[in-house]
Amino acid sequence: LQETLVQEGLGGAKQNREPVFFTIGSIDSFERKLQTLRDSLDLGDDVPPVTYTREGGFFSIFMSFAPTLLLIGFFALVMRNAAGGGASGGIFGITNSRAKKYTELNRVKITFKDVAGMAEAKQEVMEFVSFLRNPSRFTDLGAKIPKGAILLGPPGTGKTLLAKAVAGECKVPFYSISGSDFMEMFVGVGPARVRDLFSKARENRPCIVYIDEIDAIGKPRGKGGFFGGNDERENTLNQLLIELDGFNVLSDVVVLASTNVGVDNLDKALMRPGRFDRQIMVDLPNIQEREEIFHVHLRPVKMAHDSASFIAKKLAQQTPGFSGADIANVCNEGALIAARRDAKEVTLVDFEAAVDRVIGGLEKKTRVLRPEEKRVVAFHEAGHAITSWFLQHCHPLVKVSIIPRGSAALGYAQYLPSEKKIRTVDELMDTICMALGGRAAERLTFNHLSTGAQDDLQRVTRMAYAQVTKYGFSEKLLNLAFPEQGNSSEGLTRRLYSDSTALVVD
Ligand code: ADP
Ligand code: MG
Ligand code: ZN
Repeated sequence: LQETLVQEGLGGAKQNREPVFFTIGSIDSFERKLQTLRDSLDLGDDVPPVTYTREGGFFSIFMSFAPTLLLIGFFALVMRNAAGGGASGGIFGITNSRAKKYTELNRVKITFKDVAGMAEAKQEVMEFVSFLRNPSRFTDLGAKIPKGAILLGPPGTGKTLLAKAVAGECKVPFYSISGSDFMEMFVGVGPARVRDLFSKARENRPCIVYIDEIDAIGKPRGKGGFFGGNDERENTLNQLLIELDGFNVLSDVVVLASTNVGVDNLDKALMRPGRFDRQIMVDLPNIQEREEIFHVHLRPVKMAHDSASFIAKKLAQQTPGFSGADIANVCNEGALIAARRDAKEVTLVDFEAAVDRVIGGLEKKTRVLRPEEKRVVAFHEAGHAITSWFLQHCHPLVKVSIIPRGSAALGYAQYLPSEKKIRTVDELMDTICMALGGRAAERLTFNHLSTGAQDDLQRVTRMAYAQVTKYGFSEKLLNLAFPEQGNSSEGLTRRLYSDSTALVVD
């Protein structure tokens, strides 16, 4: 600017007075600069005249329309995509179900051999396969082929895996879809997809349809409360119910489903006979099943010759409460740990480190405990260990660790949970003693109280209250069980007994 002004003002401008054009940001600051320039150059009256023109006109008009145009453009895009149609989806394709079809040609590679344990679930599911392969054996006797089965169990217990094995082994087409695949942001798509899935299935019968994580659509209906419920989901569920047991149902389409949530959290109508006739429970594996699962997952791992069965047995003992997925994780982590130390083979030590890691998370090398603290933690955990060792009704102790890890801040003790479902007063009392053993040991050894026992105390309090309010063990409130207090997410906790009873409970 300065240069041009100087040139124009002192030289060129005098001769041919050609106008100079600028694009400027702010008029104010431009004029201020111009003024200082004029003053400093001392041009007097001989200054080039400045004329402003405003050219933003069209642009600013355009800008004021921009949001509208953007919206129109967006809708145009959506509509074009939607109408673009054909096989790639679109408004006509959106109702196509997203089910994956497995036939003889593209079988999954998983077989029943890859599914360890779960003997009963496997047998039930295999029965369905044999129904479809050879229906006359059953229909000749006047039996109807069951419509479907639902696999229920905690996460990672191998429900999806079992279904995959069915897909791999059965000789009929297998459709796999997940519950959430039915839902879309457009209304009416869910039911249409259900219809589409089942019409495809009927064309290809006999066949198996598998719906994973069915709770996405199978939650009980009519529980929307103030928010009006979820009509789309309910309509989808209704359509599914109709396809399972409506007018045009053919018997040789078998529907399998799986979910992590309990039966109570699924719509009753889904579970009635004629729909998912069979409920197959898949529990966490017991010790033998864990050993079998270890065998499956140790197969690809390179280990010292014939140590596999020993390792599998040993690890099965050390991993109570693990699911199949946890076990798969342990095997993989073990191999990774061995690889990190450049080993040729994976050993038991690696797997044991992996078990610790799966239970407690990563070892916190940086979070170093001071030696005094370490001593306190060691005595605390030893207190738990010793009490549980000597108390008759406690769960046996498997392992104590005082290495700080991700989730176990100071250390942890791992117990072997019993397979028993009923627990007696003695067992609960012994468990309370054992939980207090850590604090007792601290007091005996260091004669102090510490905050390290907070978790234990919470557990003890909860167990003690449960004995009175849930199990009716207390002499004063014998044979009474009070419902759980209302959950605090509702903002209020209800207590279904009087203040005087509360005093007795306390
Ligand atoms: P979910 O029950 O939650 O559907 P998955 O079937 O997805 O669990 O299991 C996750 C992984 O855990 C599987 O891919 C497999 O590696 C392992 N797994 C679980 N159960 C078993 C089992 N019984 N035998 C072998 N592997 C198992
Ligand atoms: Mg699953
Ligand atoms: Zn403790």
